[in-house]
Amino acid sequence: MSIVADSVVAAGRLDAASHAHPSGAHPHTADPLADARTQLAEAAGILGLPDGLHRMLATPRRELTVAVPLRLDSGETRLFTGHRVQHNFSRGPAKGGLRYSPNVSLDEVRALAMWMTWKCALLDVPYGGAKGGVAIDPRAHSTAELERLTRRYTSEILPIIGPERDIPAPDIGTDEQTMAWMMDTYSVNSGYTVPGIVTGKPIALGGSLGRASATSRGVTHVALAALAHVGLRPERSTAAVQGFGKVGADAARFLAEAGVAVEAVSDLYGAVHRAGGLDLEALSAHVRETGTVVGFPGADPIDGQALLGLDVDLLVPAAVEGVLHAGTAEAVRARVVVEGANGPTTADGDRILAERGVLVVPDILANAGGVIVSYFEWVQANQAYWWRADEVESRLEERMLNAWSHVLGYAEARGLSLRTAATALAVERVAEAHRLRGLYP
Ligand code: GLU
Repeated sequence: MSIVADSVVAAGRLDAASHAHPSGAHPHTADPLADARTQLAEAAGILGLPDGLHRMLATPRRELTVAVPLRLDSGETRLFTGHRVQHNFSRGPAKGGLRYSPNVSLDEVRALAMWMTWKCALLDVPYGGAKGGVAIDPRAHSTAELERLTRRYTSEILPIIGPERDIPAPDIGTDEQTMAWMMDTYSVNSGYTVPGIVTGKPIALGGSLGRASATSRGVTHVALAALAHVGLRPERSTAAVQGFGKVGADAARFLAEAGVAVEAVSDLYGAVHRAGGLDLEALSAHVRETGTVVGFPGADPIDGQALLGLDVDLLVPAAVEGVLHAGTAEAVRARVVVEGANGPTTADGDRILAERGVLVVPDILANAGGVIVSYFEWVQANQAYWWRADEVESRLEERMLNAWSHVLGYAEARGLSLRTAATALAVERVAEAHRLRGLYP
C-alpha cells in the first residue's frame, strides 16, 4: 500500500485562487479543488478559524493512489489509475461515492471528498468525508471487465476501507451492481458477509428502500422550498434539468409530480425542449430504448449549453462539476439554481449568479439526500433490521427541510449566500468535533 505524500498544503498556500492546477484535466471545470478551497477559506474567515485548523481542513487526512491492472476480454492487459481520498474523520467514519470517469484526477477527488465532509456535517450525518475515483470510461467496457476492475480496485484500497473506516457508495459511472461487487470482494477477504461496507447496494443484499431515488427526492424537497421562498408556486413554475442520469431523471419526474413544468432536459449527447413541459414518461421510454434524450419525438432538439440559459424559473444542474462558470453564468435566466451535481458552479460562476440575484441552493445541501439515505442504509445493515419505504422517505424529507431552514436562517441573519452559510455551518461542526477531541499526541 502506498500512501501518497500529502502535498496539499506543502506549498503553504491556503489561498485557493493561487493554487496551481494543470488545466484541461477536466473539460468541464477549471479547478474544483480551488473552488472547494475558496469556499472553505470564506467559511474560515466568517468563523474566525485559527490558521492551523484551516490548514488541516484544507488537507485530506489520507490519500491512496493505486494502479489498477485490468485483463480485457480480449486477453490484453490495460492499466488504470484509481484514488481514494479520506478528507476527514472527526465526526465519524469517512463516507463518499466512487466515480468511474475518464477525467478523474486526484485533485478532483480531493475536492469531492472535502464536499462530502461538509455535506455529512451539514445534514448531521455522523460521518467524515471521502471520495474515490478511477480514470476509466465505463461505457467503453463490458460488464465482465467492469467487474474485474471493481474487484481489483477494491482489493487495492482494502486496507483503508471498512464499515467503521470508510464506506463507499455509487457516484458518476458506478451503480448498485458496482456496490454488490465491492461488498462481495470485501466480504470474501474478511471471511464473512459485511453489508455495512458499502451503501447504494441492491435491496436483495441489504440495500435500503428509497436509496436509489434519494438524491433526486432531496433535490426536489429543497427545490420546492426554494421556489416557495422566492414566491413561486410549483404549478406556476418551469424548470430545466441538466443531466438525465441517476439524479436528473428522477428529479425531473418528482418536480413534474409536484406540478412544475419541466421544459428541458439534457444528457451527454444533447438536449430537448418543449414549452409547457415535457412528457417525462415518454421521454424515459425513449431513453431506455436509445440510451439518450436526443431524438425524442415529443420535443425540439436544443444545444446542451443553451439549456443553461433558458427562460425558466428553476435550473437544476445535475451532471458534473464546473458547468456554471464565468462563460455561462451570465446567460442564466432562472430565478433559482438547485445543485443536483457536486460542484457545478465555479467560484466565478457563483459571483456572477449572486450579482444577478439568482438564488443558488448549494450542492452540499441540495444533493445530500443520497448520503442521508446511505446513512439510513448503513444503520439498517449494522442492525440487520430494515425500514419501510415511507419511514425512509419521511425521515429524509424531515432532514432535508430542517437543513434548508437552518441554512436559510443562518444566511439571512448574517447576510450570506446560501453556499457560504451552508459551508460555514458545516465547517463549524467539524471544527467543534476536532476541538473536543483534541490533537493527538
Ligand atoms: N455520491 C453521492 C454524493 O456525492 C453519495 C455519497 C454516499 O452516499 O456516500 O453525495
